[in-house]
Amino acid sequence: MIKFKPFKTVQVKNIDHKKDTYSGYIHDWEEITGRKATRCANLDCPNDEKDPKLVGGHVIKSGSNTEDDWYIIPLCHVCNAEANTDGMEVYERDLVEYKVIKNKKK
Ligand SMILES: [Zn+2]
Repeated sequence: MIKFKPFKTVQVKNIDHKKDTYSGYIHDWEEITGRKATRCANLDCPNDEKDPKLVGGHVIKSGSNTEDDWYIIPLCHVCNAEANTDGMEVYERDLVEYKVIKNKKK
């Protein structure tokens, strides 16, 4: 089934950033976007829990690998797991630049 996608999508990859124990990413994401994180940003999220706990996960756009190109998106624990090395399709509007949040933290 082809899902209707009302916004521009982009391919991203989860990055493992466990040493960063800051837990406020999801809150910062909501503050910066002015939206409530209500669903996992992965459009093909395999997690069928009714109300999955969301965290602000670090991702990169495919092909890029510098900290300047990191983004934070709402992810469920399945999609944010270290084991998830698959590309994910997400709405571009769901990406918040990591450096924006990093600068805010200071
Ligand atoms: Zn998910």
